[in-house]
Amino acid sequence: MIELLSPGGNLEKIKFAIHYGADAVYCALKKFGLRSQAGNLSKDDYIEALNFVHENDKKLYLTLNAYLFDKDFNQLFKIVDFLNKYPPDGVIISDFGVLSVVSKNTDIPIHISTQANITNSYAANMLGSFNVKRIVLARELTLDDIKKFKENTNIEIEAFVHGAMCMSYSGRCFISAYLTGRSANRGDCTQSCRWKYTVVEHKRPDMPIDVEEHLEGTFIFNSYDMCALPILPQFIENGISSLKIEGRMKSLYYVSVVTSVYRDALDTLMRGESFKPKIPYYMKELSKVSHRPYSFGFYLGQPKQHMKSSGYIKNCNFCGVITDCSDGYAKVQVRGKIEYGEYEIVSPASKIKKIYINALFDEEGKIKKYGNPNEFVYIRVSREIEKLSLLRKCSESNSRELEIQKAVL
Ligand code: SF4
Repeated sequence: MIELLSPGGNLEKIKFAIHYGADAVYCALKKFGLRSQAGNLSKDDYIEALNFVHENDKKLYLTLNAYLFDKDFNQLFKIVDFLNKYPPDGVIISDFGVLSVVSKNTDIPIHISTQANITNSYAANMLGSFNVKRIVLARELTLDDIKKFKENTNIEIEAFVHGAMCMSYSGRCFISAYLTGRSANRGDCTQSCRWKYTVVEHKRPDMPIDVEEHLEGTFIFNSYDMCALPILPQFIENGISSLKIEGRMKSLYYVSVVTSVYRDALDTLMRGESFKPKIPYYMKELSKVSHRPYSFGFYLGQPKQHMKSSGYIKNCNFCGVITDCSDGYAKVQVRGKIEYGEYEIVSPASKIKKIYINALFDEEGKIKKYGNPNEFVYIRVSREIEKLSLLRKCSESNSRELEIQKAVL
């Protein structure tokens, strides 16, 4: 059974990822988890998340994949004590010092992070002797490389299928640390690779020269996002155990929609049903989350560099979560402004329903013109809507979106 693994940036996102079809989630405590700007989990949140995930018969992996200094290890030992009381289903590690401490002091299965850049089966087999159960592949392997890798090892393989990419080698990058003091290797990347750059002649620092690729500017380090959905069958053929969605910093809406699309795609393939005709629908859904233009990453060979704007494409606004539905009314927890008009409802089975809102009501039944973030409103519905469905407002696809479809398909 292939696992679908989704990002759990905080407790709420973990619950939505499971609800929308993830088999497992990965998340971090407040320290050493390589996404210091994500909400991450307090110890209490972690215990709640672990219980929730296990009650649903799913798995939780904890990321401890920062590179540490000696001064960090006292804190690491405390975390290891805590994890022995509340063991996750796996710990994701990059640093060999962390590997040594965790493998000697716990029985928790160890996964080696993509940040460790494992690109061959020899490294994987060597790590197997340190209780390593799974390798999260470096993102620079092609599908052919993965096939050969898997032929030479029994260790489980996890591969990224969706999300942001780095222009450097699997995130081993110093641009952000150099320019801002915030290190990618400590989970604090500012995504400086996507910024605009100029050329400066050594003796004339006050005369920067714009390098103009085109009118939007110059983005020489900017990468496409990854979307491997159309080539999922090859991942299954190559014996990959877990398909990973990137994005602990992404929104609850992003995590839910991307998880539900990959859930449906994976189930379709596992049932042996026809996959190809569904790809356009899946891609359309994936174009409705905030993203940069998609590519296959390195899976089919060297990726191209994305030369245009580093901005995100956003065709839909996330407006709210349906928290209840009865007697022809749905209760909506507002996340983005709601007014009258046409909306879409997204439910876990990735069935999209259109809905027209022609009135909004407050808790006392009084009519409202708008729903504002952090309040609850009621809308009239003609049929039952599943709890935890999402309400979104989408614009029509634009030419940029079509460009993405062409790039991927
Ligand atoms: S600056 Fe860019 S390439 Fe470097 S780690 Fe951050 S996202 Fe990756």
